[in-house]
Amino acid sequence: SAITTADLEKLQVLGHGNGGTVYQVRHKHTSALYALKVVHGDSDPTIRRQVFREMEILRRADSPFVVQCHGIFEKPSGDIAFLMEYMDSGTLDTLLKTKGTFSEPSLASIATQVLSGLNYLHSHKIIHRDIKPSNLLVNHKMEVKIADFGVSKIMCRTLDPCNSYVGTCAYMSPERFDPDTYGGNYNGYAGDIWSLGLTLMELYMGHFPLLPPGQRPDWATLMCAICFGEPPSSPEGASDDFRSFLECCLQKESGKRWSTSQLLNHPFLSSNNLKSSNT
Ligand code: ATP
Ligand code: MG
Repeated sequence: SAITTADLEKLQVLGHGNGGTVYQVRHKHTSALYALKVVHGDSDPTIRRQVFREMEILRRADSPFVVQCHGIFEKPSGDIAFLMEYMDSGTLDTLLKTKGTFSEPSLASIATQVLSGLNYLHSHKIIHRDIKPSNLLVNHKMEVKIADFGVSKIMCRTLDPCNSYVGTCAYMSPERFDPDTYGGNYNGYAGDIWSLGLTLMELYMGHFPLLPPGQRPDWATLMCAICFGEPPSSPEGASDDFRSFLECCLQKESGKRWSTSQLLNHPFLSSNNLKSSNT
């Protein structure tokens, strides 16, 4: 039977995001733990728009590499809450801070899981647009799942044969369907690949790769580093396979970046995953 908010007991705050708070909650009858993200009804319209987008994506997404949503509650006060599976090791960002940098075999496993999640999302025409260590959740089995769809973009679904728009949209120009692909911003999906490359590099090096360690990331410095700088060079000590993998993610020209399915076949992933399945 469906879970209601009355069945849930709040245990502690897991994190604060813009506009909402994430609680650890326990189901009173089954004792199962969940994460509940609560967004207040009086929050500003931009945040409410983000919440509704996140709701639409989580409600439909069904992948072992995307955080699972067990229910959405809307109160008369306007408060909205999502019940999610509880990821008991927190985020890759907290793991980096508490346990230190990651080895290449663990990065290969993380990359395989995030790419499998992105492959699912991209094939369902969803661009995440905010891939970073603090949006990748982890559990004690070292399963990694993509979370936080607040700024994600759902591309046009009019080509779906089940969608009643198909007929009426027949004469619309390509950019009206899919502005990210045809309207100048050449390939929106490739943005997630760049972010994944930076994320993996940060988890290997221990600091954000585009800035020297310890520097506070202000917007102007970052913008200059990203737009006018060279792509970050591969970290010292990294294997040739890992360097090559990062290079495939961190091409400045989005059209040259590899896609999720190409990267899933990259030697960095196949050789490391082979090694771990042999041991
Ligand atoms: P931010 O701006 O920090 O990205 P946000 O508003 O986007 O925050 P989330 O990223 O969804 O909100 O969640 C905030 C924090 O709550 C996360 O960084 C994480 O520590 C914790 N959290 C979120 N979902 C879960 C979950 N399912 N299991 C465990 N912890 C979670
Ligand atoms: Mg977040």
